[in-house]
Amino acid sequence: MALAEIFHPNNSDAEELADTQTPSTCTFLDSQEIQTPKQAWGKLYPTIIRLKTVDLIERQFFLGRSKECDVSLTSDNFNPNCLKTISKTHFLITHDENDETVYITDLSKNGTFINETQIGRGKKTILQNDDEIAVGGKKVKVYIYKPVGKSEDTYLPTELRREYEVSKKLGEGGCGEVRLLFRKNDCKEFAVKRILKSKTESGKSLNSLTRIHNEIAILKTVSHPNILSTIKTAETDEAVFMVLEYMNGGSLQERIRFSEKLPERIAKLIFYQILIGVQYLHLRGITHRDLKPENILLKTDNEETLVKIADFGLSKLIVNSTVMTTTCGTPNFLAPEIIDNRYQKYTQEVDIWSLGVILFYMLSGQLPFQSDSLHYLFRLILSGEYSMDETLWCLISNDAKDLVKHMLVVDPEKRIKISDILSHPWITNDSSIKRNAEDLINLHVDKDDPPNEDGLPEAKRARLD
Ligand code: ATP
Ligand code: MG
Repeated sequence: MALAEIFHPNNSDAEELADTQTPSTCTFLDSQEIQTPKQAWGKLYPTIIRLKTVDLIERQFFLGRSKECDVSLTSDNFNPNCLKTISKTHFLITHDENDETVYITDLSKNGTFINETQIGRGKKTILQNDDEIAVGGKKVKVYIYKPVGKSEDTYLPTELRREYEVSKKLGEGGCGEVRLLFRKNDCKEFAVKRILKSKTESGKSLNSLTRIHNEIAILKTVSHPNILSTIKTAETDEAVFMVLEYMNGGSLQERIRFSEKLPERIAKLIFYQILIGVQYLHLRGITHRDLKPENILLKTDNEETLVKIADFGLSKLIVNSTVMTTTCGTPNFLAPEIIDNRYQKYTQEVDIWSLGVILFYMLSGQLPFQSDSLHYLFRLILSGEYSMDETLWCLISNDAKDLVKHMLVVDPEKRIKISDILSHPWITNDSSIKRNAEDLINLHVDKDDPPNEDGLPEAKRARLD
């Protein structure tokens, strides 16, 4: 076959093409005219699993039920019940190229909400980093907005920045702040805790750094379904960053404050999971030392939820490791032997005391030792005297009250041991608790977790034996 036939099967086409020119006779495109791919100026990270991350590239972005929109909500990617509340063109995001400002305009009947505040039909507002966008109702969140190429990008150390995108602040404690993270390749949510090194133990830097590294090494070896996993750590000159699994249901503190107190059955399910986690730590010679409702995190908003203990061992990284300073949280959960400096050293029994205070708090919504004066509060704790207000405790079982009494014993040697708590009638009388807790664990076994030696995902490694 002739060469001409291969390249020009249709001869008339071939005739229409001009002859090839030599480079010197060509007019090359100006470098500005060369079509380079446009850079995104922002991103929308979905808070609904079936939506995808959106790169905002064009000047305008529409969302709504209409197929013409850039993102069209349908029953395939959105809750069909909520779909009815979505307008055909629900909102518009615009980017002003001159001053880099980003606006969101509400075009809907039932409302577009930024951080739970309604914009108002026909009105626009400036869209900022970490803003949560909801549609049809303030809780129906669809995306979190993040600008691209803004200074926020330098929050994470380079090694984490490659893999994760940092988002809104989840909370702040004595140890630093916690932010939401998205893993770039699959948009999976994580949390990152940043601990500023200036707040870590004083002393020779090598010493404290060695200590921090030791603590982190311990954190990484711990793997139990009721203990918050540390996925990875990184550090800069100023801070240590810990990537943690994300707990969507907030802390036990928020749950108790919201519902005033917990039904006994729910309190038991939560308490049992905390016990199993603490037992695991104690068997490995680790004392938590800072057990309190803020450090108990909930996986979901459901009444029955998986519970995980956070921040064990972290108290050692902070100045005044006794955590007695008000800057490092509430002292109401501290054991008497931590407060009383006549005790030269304290042991795992301090955690049992804190668990007793937590159980008291879950069941009644009140703290057994409470005072605005730190001095008086410590006196109350050292005396070990508390009362169970009859109006709050009358419907609570005697077994529950008995267990609290055996935990809130001032002398650590006389305080009930964790193995005895687990065989206390309040726990053993209800055979469904263990099964319930195991079901919750299995529900959240993460298929993405790297398998361990047994080929099981990470979260399966420990069981509630
Ligand atoms: P402390 O510094 O004494 O531990 P704290 O527990 O209140 O006090 P942080 O541990 O810094 O402070 O956490 C602050 C808040 O961030 C928590 O109360 C919780 O609401 C949120 N948080 C922490 N870790 C996570 C996580 N892994 N997933 C979701 N939210 C989290
Ligand atoms: Mg904490």
